Amino acid sequence: MSRFQDVQFLISAAAPEQFPADAGAEVAFAGRSNAGKSSAINAIAQRQGLARTSKTPGRTRLLNFFALGSGWRLVDLPGYGYASGAAAERKTWPALIEALGERESLRGWFVIVDARRGLTEGDERLFEWVRPGQRLHVLLAKADKLNRSEASAALRQAATTLAGRGTAQLFSAHSGTGVHEAQETLSAWLGSGG
Ligand code: GDP
Repeated sequence: MSRFQDVQFLISAAAPEQFPADAGAEVAFAGRSNAGKSSAINAIAQRQGLARTSKTPGRTRLLNFFALGSGWRLVDLPGYGYASGAAAERKTWPALIEALGERESLRGWFVIVDARRGLTEGDERLFEWVRPGQRLHVLLAKADKLNRSEASAALRQAATTLAGRGTAQLFSAHSGTGVHEAQETLSAWLGSGG
């Protein structure tokens, strides 16, 4: 059974004025392009193709809001890290991300990273937008590509880099590793009083 009922695409926002009303609870999903964010969102929300909406040409640089039911939302951020998008990112990102970070309903940030690559400078820059009281959770995605010792090393390295700022877990949309754990974390954040 799906834990998140009636998952629906809400809106692609190019400006803060287009964000849905700041009520209920939401969690932002961010990550370097190709880290496995769309696959992670689809696995967690148990809706294949959901995050494909965010990959539709014209929507890739926008903030895509999805309703998970019960006044809960998931916000899919544009993938970052490609040089070609850097200039555009520098222009539009700060205003959009800052406005998102200021929302009362934003409980926290899921940051998706390729487990083989680990946390990068781009991820670190994103952490600067995490406000006090908001939580941070890192999904070390594509964990199926790692053997046991590489997986432990990736977890240790993430914990060292995070230095208490957030938590991290292994995740694989392909094998299903960590999907339940991620759902539990997401539900706990959304269900908390804020
Ligand atoms: P996004 O750009 O961050 O949204 O990444 P996608 O979800 O589109 O995935 C990028 C690439 O990584 C695709 O080729 C996926 O098939 C692959 N990928 C995504 N998740 C996994 C996973 O759990 N395991 C493996 N091995 N590959 C994955």
